[in-house]
Amino acid sequence: MARRDKRSAVPGPRGPGESAPPKRSLGQNFLVDQNISRKIVAALDIGPQDTVLEIGPGRGALSEWIAKAGPGRYLAVEKDADLAMALPARAPGVGVAAMDALRLDWARLASLPRLKMVGNLPYNVASPLVWDLCAGVDAFEYAIFMVQHEVALRMAARPGTGEYGALTAWMGNFVTVDYLFKVPPTVFRPRPKVDSAVVRLDPLPSGPRPESLSGLAAFLKRCFSHRRKQLRHTLKAQWTDDISQIFEMNGYLPSCRPEELSPDFFRILAKTLKIHGP
Ligand code: SAM
Repeated sequence: MARRDKRSAVPGPRGPGESAPPKRSLGQNFLVDQNISRKIVAALDIGPQDTVLEIGPGRGALSEWIAKAGPGRYLAVEKDADLAMALPARAPGVGVAAMDALRLDWARLASLPRLKMVGNLPYNVASPLVWDLCAGVDAFEYAIFMVQHEVALRMAARPGTGEYGALTAWMGNFVTVDYLFKVPPTVFRPRPKVDSAVVRLDPLPSGPRPESLSGLAAFLKRCFSHRRKQLRHTLKAQWTDDISQIFEMNGYLPSCRPEELSPDFFRILAKTLKIHGP
């Protein structure tokens, strides 16, 4: 007979919708270790004036702790309608919307007071959500997200490292990323194949922002499409002596590869090249 792991027990009876098998298409690997739940919610440091927005609450592994912490307002967005319906039984007071978090309207969220975001993000949602969320960076105080370990390393990477890429350079224009802690596959049901990690995103104090968000996003994807190639070769058609000079004025050799350039410098370069959105 299998031994029951006390740490793994999700408290309370299962509600309607929670007994359905996990949906792989929605990345449903549910957290079953309450110590990790507590640690994530503690990192959110919820106060009575805060609005908490949870992305993908699932069966409520974080939600119960969030509700207990007593935020001023607690909202959640869950794509699985059955799980969304079952959530209030686990987390009294939650206002849950059965919707795709990738359709969130960041401009509307900006009106919520002291907004803190949290979520154990499914792998296919983490990157697109973070690309979107940076554009709505004025809407929130900070965010605590669990993502695949490899994605966390990319988010928190420094220029000049193998993990540094378009996502890092994009995020670096809007937020600072702190890698908080690693989470093993054993604390999920079903178990994912890879490690996870928890990161904290803090909006940068308002400084120069990209002139065109969609332009910078497309530019970064293009620059990193050949990450080992010198950027002057990737941007051959647009390269001029002026661009070489801008590199030198910012302390870079014109022969640099994209992975060596700071997030800020990509913004400067996109502005100089007058890159606009599609
Ligand atoms: N927070 C729960 C936990 O820690 O056990 C569930 C985490 S599970 C990795 C991801 C959750 O996000 C699932 O409940 C899934 O249904 C939901 N989800 C997947 N895609 C989503 C999307 N695009 N928008 C909102 N929720 C989504």
